[in-house]
Amino acid sequence: MFDSLSDRLTGVLSDLRGKGRLSDADIDRTCREIRLALLEADVSLPVVRTFIAKIKERAKGAEVSGALNPAQQVVKIVNEELIGILGGETRRISLAKTPPTVIMLAGLQGAGKTTLAGKLGNWLIKQGHTPMLVACDLQRPGAVSQLQIVGERAGVPVFAPHAGTGVGGEGALGVSAGDPVAVARAGVEQARTEQRDVVIIDTAGRLGLDDELMQQASDIRAATDPDEVLFVVDAMIGQDAVTTAQAFADGVGFTGVVLTKLDGDARGGAALSVREVTGQPIMFASSGEKLDDFDVFHPDRMASRILG
Ligand code: GDP
Repeated sequence: MFDSLSDRLTGVLSDLRGKGRLSDADIDRTCREIRLALLEADVSLPVVRTFIAKIKERAKGAEVSGALNPAQQVVKIVNEELIGILGGETRRISLAKTPPTVIMLAGLQGAGKTTLAGKLGNWLIKQGHTPMLVACDLQRPGAVSQLQIVGERAGVPVFAPHAGTGVGGEGALGVSAGDPVAVARAGVEQARTEQRDVVIIDTAGRLGLDDELMQQASDIRAATDPDEVLFVVDAMIGQDAVTTAQAFADGVGFTGVVLTKLDGDARGGAALSVREVTGQPIMFASSGEKLDDFDVFHPDRMASRILG
């Protein structure tokens, strides 16, 4: 991801090299090219507009500094503004004062929630936590057993309504297997009993946005009062990522974003738009199917990667 954007931006910026002074026309031309590169990378138009306006204003107003030549100064400004749209500082999980900390995962089907549950659980264990996964995706056949497999691989226990199948019958704590809200509530309770300090709730996704999905996610949120609601979004879906993020922000609300499939060859605009559009920070990034293909999201590292 970002290869072509990165190539374009480094190309545009290296054209400035060797210039002793940048005229307003140089800056305007450079900004036009950066704008095109961002739009081609699928970054959403309002985000591009704000970004370019800031670059232009800062580049034209930049004092000539002894340490940096004009081209380096523009690169520095672009870098700082990229870090800005990616959220500035790294945002850590906010832990509950009284455990367990509840983390709810929300997003479309196929976004990578179940995979993420395992990765996040595994990462939390390495941080010294004692996580537990709760299987509340009771919609998709096989989702509960998928989470159980993921949990086993990650070494994280899974609370599920009915071992193996996820449908039919009464399961653990006598919770009806068909009611994700009750399962979520019972899962948090179970974590408290077992003194697990973080609960990760995997919820159902749909292939598209629908009211029922939003309502169910809202109900689970209301019932469990999570410390974090992480919106999981496939970075490969381009502009749709922004539309989906907005719909989840309005319908459920979330406190952070997880970008998945950053290992793909999509153009990456989603990654660059979602923070600015929703106002919520990107907290984690997933870049493959293995447990370790996962990290805390660092805006500065991502900006350096984009600028080559
Ligand atoms: P869910 O429906 O949101 O729970 O999504 P899943 O966790 O089942 O993931 C959907 C598909 O995407 C699965 O085949 C995963 O292996 C795959 N997947 C998840 N995260 C990543 C990632 O970061 N990179 C790649 N390449 N594939 C991923």
